[in-house]
Amino acid sequence: RTKRAQIEEHRICVCVRKRPLNKQEINKKECDVITVPSKCALLVHEPKQKVDLTKYLETQTFRFDFSFDECASNEMVYRFTARPLVQTIFEGGKATCFAYGQTGSGKTHTMGGDFSGRAQNASKGIYAFASQDVFLLLSQPRYRSQDLAVYVTFFEIYNGKVFDLLNKKAKLRVLEDGKQQVQVVGLQEKQVSCAEDVIRMIEMGSACRTSGQTFANASSSRSHACFQIILRQRGKLVGKFSLVDLAGNERGADTSSADRQTRMEGAEINKSLLALKECIRALGQNKSHTPFRESKLTQVLRDSFIGTNSRTCMIAMISPGMSSCEYTLNTLRYADRVKEL
Ligand code: ADP
Ligand code: MG
Repeated sequence: RTKRAQIEEHRICVCVRKRPLNKQEINKKECDVITVPSKCALLVHEPKQKVDLTKYLETQTFRFDFSFDECASNEMVYRFTARPLVQTIFEGGKATCFAYGQTGSGKTHTMGGDFSGRAQNASKGIYAFASQDVFLLLSQPRYRSQDLAVYVTFFEIYNGKVFDLLNKKAKLRVLEDGKQQVQVVGLQEKQVSCAEDVIRMIEMGSACRTSGQTFANASSSRSHACFQIILRQRGKLVGKFSLVDLAGNERGADTSSADRQTRMEGAEINKSLLALKECIRALGQNKSHTPFRESKLTQVLRDSFIGTNSRTCMIAMISPGMSSCEYTLNTLRYADRVKEL
């Protein structure tokens, strides 16, 4: 079997993406401590110091389903991560793709792309590529006759509360009924009929997400953003693809901050990322118990962690610089644990 076929049948795929050093890092003469020697391996050259103060590099090796170096485009990353999951939603399943990593490591760039510049510089991310492929599949004869419609939602989970990014950040309630069905009350589902419609929604939601923020206090680093592509047949849910741009994992360490608000947010992030790991692991091990109630994030995504036709992909994003080394190792260890059965 080809590598591709193996990935196709995996229920959980864990990949890593290294971004290039940016201008500031190059100006500061920051060292790149990451090498990607092959499609599946990634090395971290961690600077260490012996007791006698001699410096040395300790190399740690990690293995993933795929590892992307700084030359990989968003489209390339998409092709090997989220694309194999698109078919799932046409088969009545749930697909989920997570971007995990430190603030500044490239989560939003990979998922949302960048439409903020002039049009010719606009770069698509996984939200846009996945939507494009959904419309491509829809145009095939076997699906064209099925009366299917596509909708998108875009919301943010900040400090355990849900806000609608397609409706002026309206605060939404999450309800769980007797049959454990979770519902985000009032979440706007916008019908879309082409890839350009979707891009408008991404732009609108992204602008809403970052409006009124100063960089130092960017709540986007402390919130999870979830973009969903929903397929319905005459109103009835067929499948759902959730694409999640997670809160910066370094924020989960803010639990000893002097500021109470920051501390509480840190604890909430920590809790949600731990719950997420356990929920994905439960899915991979076909466990009957999924601890989705532990956080708002996992509660809202509950139906993606259960059922026989649920597939998940996690992309661990890493910054290549030496000063990010500690967080990078944390990210890689987390991703490793998600995969390890
Ligand atoms: P995060 O969402 O993880 O905090 P961003 O996606 O905002 O990080 O990325 C931080 C900065 O790095 C942005 O300016 C983004 O455009 C840039 N960047 C991230 N990944 C890449 C990449 N693979 N290639 C080029 N620039 C990137
Ligand atoms: Mg971001």
